[in-house]
Amino acid sequence: MTALEQQVRDAFAQDGVLSRAAEHFRERTGQTEMALAVARTIEDGGVLVVEAGTGVGKTFSYLVPALLSGERVLLSTATKALQDQLFGRDLPRLVEALGLPLRTALLKGRASYVCLHRLGLARHDASLPERGSLRTLAKIEQWSTSTRTGDLAELPGLDERSPLIPLVTSTRDNCLGAQCPQFKPCHVNLARREALAADVVVINHHLFFADLAVRETGMAELLPTVRVVVFDEAHQLNETGVQFLGVQLGTGQVLDFARDLLAAGLQHARGLVDWHQRVAAVERSARELRLVAGKQWAGAKLRWFGAAPENLPAALWQGALDEMQSAFESAAEGLDSVSELSPDFVRLHERALQLAARAARFAAPCESGCVRWVDVGTQLRLMESPLDIAEAMRTRVLKLRAASSDDRDVDDGGEGARAWIFTSATLGDEPTLRWFTEPCGLGDAEVLRVQSPFDYAQQAALYVPRVFPKPNDPSHSVQVAALAARAAGVLGGRTLVLTTTLRALRTIGDAMRQHLERLDAPRRPEVLVQGELPKRVLMDRFREGDSAGRGGCVLVASATFWEGFDAPGDSLQLVVIDKLPFPPPNDPLVEARSQRLEAQGRNAFGDYSLPEAAVALKQGAGRLIRRESDQGVLVICDTRLVAMGYGRRLLAALPPMRRLDSEADFDAALAALAP
Ligand code: SF4
Repeated sequence: MTALEQQVRDAFAQDGVLSRAAEHFRERTGQTEMALAVARTIEDGGVLVVEAGTGVGKTFSYLVPALLSGERVLLSTATKALQDQLFGRDLPRLVEALGLPLRTALLKGRASYVCLHRLGLARHDASLPERGSLRTLAKIEQWSTSTRTGDLAELPGLDERSPLIPLVTSTRDNCLGAQCPQFKPCHVNLARREALAADVVVINHHLFFADLAVRETGMAELLPTVRVVVFDEAHQLNETGVQFLGVQLGTGQVLDFARDLLAAGLQHARGLVDWHQRVAAVERSARELRLVAGKQWAGAKLRWFGAAPENLPAALWQGALDEMQSAFESAAEGLDSVSELSPDFVRLHERALQLAARAARFAAPCESGCVRWVDVGTQLRLMESPLDIAEAMRTRVLKLRAASSDDRDVDDGGEGARAWIFTSATLGDEPTLRWFTEPCGLGDAEVLRVQSPFDYAQQAALYVPRVFPKPNDPSHSVQVAALAARAAGVLGGRTLVLTTTLRALRTIGDAMRQHLERLDAPRRPEVLVQGELPKRVLMDRFREGDSAGRGGCVLVASATFWEGFDAPGDSLQLVVIDKLPFPPPNDPLVEARSQRLEAQGRNAFGDYSLPEAAVALKQGAGRLIRRESDQGVLVICDTRLVAMGYGRRLLAALPPMRRLDSEADFDAALAALAP
């Protein structure tokens, strides 16, 4: 056993340092097993993929060896909220318990930090979005004088959806960089400087891939200096990565450029170039493209295999793209002629060339290994995306040269010296974790699965109603609502309903309100519906449950709540899932992935749709039991689970809960849980 492994073993022992760092700490085989595997990977270098079931305590399992190793560490997690939790709670607690003199830093994308320059401009902005904005702006201004980090997440009560946020934060396009009068106290720069000087840096996956795509956030300098990289919540890596590694061109982006061009041109070089004419050409090209797309329903995704998206006239579409490219080139030429007059022109010139290159890219055939489509809303968004991140991970991430802890460059011939740890509670539904490793290009990684320490047979029960409308039956959502409302009435709320679509979310939310309104006021559960309040508020309200003498809560939610909802204890005792979460077959990315598998002679349903559904189902089910003392019932209102052969594979992916075979058993289980 190496010195690091011994240190890790000691730390996780019953009377080790961790018993002083964590409340209710007790030695857990799975947690120590994972920590030792991480320690070995850190010492030998290489790639380790660990699926650690709920309750293993995976955060400590990677943090302890990473911190004890003395190496420079980069930790990436899925969301800003998880970053805050890691940086504000787990990391300081451990650093203190281990008594290590480590500098830690938190680095987010620039949209998280208040931009002091734009905050100054916002006060004079005549187009402030709504009436409450001035009050919010005053609050931000006051807070900005005392904040050290400038991280807007620290401002209590600020709605993360506030339309004011884009006005007081910067983008790569509007940041003035070194020319900015606020450059020295700038929070974005400060966060980057601190990250570069720290021993442990906490980032998020968006930032990681954004930097890989545009090398703007400071990660390009940071990554080569770290020896240990940990991706927590790694199950989100592929979908986050493809968003950033692709190419996008939006008509909104084109119009933003036109507006910035006119403002800068008239301010710094009026009369030297005909700005109105060049701006009009850019705007006209965006309008033309929108016109060629014709009438489409908002939210449509137009497939795009040949020269133009489906059902659109190819010649007109190509003509509009050519016109757009020329308009950007003409703007770039005008900007080039005045570039010495203002740094704004230099950056606008870069933007014009970049936009021209994108228009040219979309006029040419789609790159092999990628898929194209158009998102339709009030604007058009042209999208080209790789099908996965495998190639980028292999060629641009894992092959990076590492530096050793004494700052010498190590020519490791690839991934040798650097340690890469990927972990999550859900990384697949079979022993090789292929669902995760294949799209992430980690086929050669060492794989470890650590089972949850929970006693699911005792703590949880699964009920799949045998008589229920089929998932495509128009009455399905209403029946889900009836079942969930009846159960929530018995439990006094304490119910999470997870839906596969936004339409079902609304139908079920409305129907549950109607059902539960009939109950007497003191025990009537409150129905919360995703989208009606900010996510953070919904989560807090739900966790409070019936503590304030009111009935408990019912939350009807979709999308991110399947995996990001954590309500331990009695506030959650019932999870209802409306349908099996298969990927939508008409989504262009899903379709292209399926076609690629078929072309390889593989089975798209068995090798893609089914594992996707299994992983999503596992995540949804994982909301129910969060602690060893939790008890609850999971209901899946989809009879395919018991009627179709593939249901067996999906059931096997779920934790080993006891089964409730009849409505009577279900009622008895609810009665046993009822307060
Ligand atoms: S340098 Fe950029 S981000 Fe920083 S204050 Fe200036 S404009 Fe804002």
